[in-house]
Amino acid sequence: MPSVFIKTYGCQMNERDSEQVARDLRDRGHRLVSSEKEADVILLNTCSVRDMAEQKAIGKMGMLKKLRREKPKLVLGYMGCMAQRLGGELQSRSPHVDLVVGTQKFHRVADYVEEALRKREEAHDREDISELGISANPLMPIIDTAAEEGSQNTIRDHLPDNRKEASSFISIMQGCNMHCTFCIVPTTRGPERGRPIREIVDEATKLVEQGTREVTLLGQIVNLYGRHEFPKTNGKSPFVQLIEALHDVDGLDRIRFTSPHPMGFRKDLVECFARLPKLMEHVHLPLQSGSDRILKAMHRPYTAESYRRLVGDLRSARPDIAVTTDIIVGFPGESDDDYKASRDLCEELELDGAFVFRYSKRGDTPAALMDEQLNEEIKESRNQDLLSIVNASASRKLQACVGTRQEILCEGPSRNDPARLAGRTRTNKIVIFEGGKRFHGQIFDVAITSASASTLYGDPAIHDGDSSGT
Ligand code: SF4
Repeated sequence: MPSVFIKTYGCQMNERDSEQVARDLRDRGHRLVSSEKEADVILLNTCSVRDMAEQKAIGKMGMLKKLRREKPKLVLGYMGCMAQRLGGELQSRSPHVDLVVGTQKFHRVADYVEEALRKREEAHDREDISELGISANPLMPIIDTAAEEGSQNTIRDHLPDNRKEASSFISIMQGCNMHCTFCIVPTTRGPERGRPIREIVDEATKLVEQGTREVTLLGQIVNLYGRHEFPKTNGKSPFVQLIEALHDVDGLDRIRFTSPHPMGFRKDLVECFARLPKLMEHVHLPLQSGSDRILKAMHRPYTAESYRRLVGDLRSARPDIAVTTDIIVGFPGESDDDYKASRDLCEELELDGAFVFRYSKRGDTPAALMDEQLNEEIKESRNQDLLSIVNASASRKLQACVGTRQEILCEGPSRNDPARLAGRTRTNKIVIFEGGKRFHGQIFDVAITSASASTLYGDPAIHDGDSSGT
């Protein structure tokens, strides 16, 4: 059977979508391979969040064209956000592609791959794939970027041999209606659509049967899940109802979610951190700016003060909770005072970590058309300055763990050093330690012996031996 290589750009939701496509193809008998050279089909699952990400994927597709010299029947395709945003336009930028499949059509990819393979095979037999077939596509490419009702319910299967089996991602919704002025997601992912609670719980239950102990719920505005489809019950939002239902799944020990919107943190959700022990004590809470004026221009419906209050409420509900964030510097019109407000708020909140982004124009968004675009020099200096602040507080948080015992879930070999193992604390900090296979997928305490700028190191000798790992 044909072999398939999938390369994924961008966020965890893209990773999850790729896993679903891989699973569908594998179920049809296709072989998944880890190198493009071995593949009969190469799919790029693309990201549109930054212009750079799109250029990278288009550049990569250009390079892949060369492989057709040895394999004229090679099928090449784009999927995901850039495919959705540019659709047929990609034909002129990558005239040799066979497939362009949008974000609501991942479940059709296996059909389209088989159709494209058939077309190439037939053309090859007719000998009408010539030099032209390498740099252009004489066959009609398959392009499908239409919206499809219920497509959010199709991302639900997993690869059982996924290396992160102790910890799995579940896509609970797609799309976003918030329309932040810098963001392309509402265009590429469409309006918010949530999956039914029952189906999500069934997926989690199956994962637990296969060895998963932790799930991370994924959505662009994950804590606003289901607000348009499902009613509140006893004053609880659909998202809180979902967390409670997952909390009741036997064998599931840890629940996380990403990325939430500050607006979705109502009292009912904050209280969950005080009463539901399986809900891990980490919240990634995108701030974006500490200036109310810029937040308004970004179309973010909260203020620096309400964000500050929310962090306080979360810390009251779960005193050891870790808070991380995303911040954009150099948004159009950001003055020195506006930047200082972001800087001061970060300094005051003593966060566990932050992704700092230099604003970059994203076509098809309102912010790209705003006056007062800042020059790169200002953005870069603010970026470096803010990084020094957030990195310092992140480092202090890690250092504070040294000498403590931390509960971790061992996810398997470390990515950077496969001879050692990696796990995550409840607060989502990575711990590296020495140990054998018996630790894989187990939850246990380790003594934290040291910390680097981004990682903790632990001593497995302190392992209680309370797990049944072999
Ligand atoms: S809430 Fe997040 S995904 Fe939605 S528009 Fe804003 S930044 Fe984009």
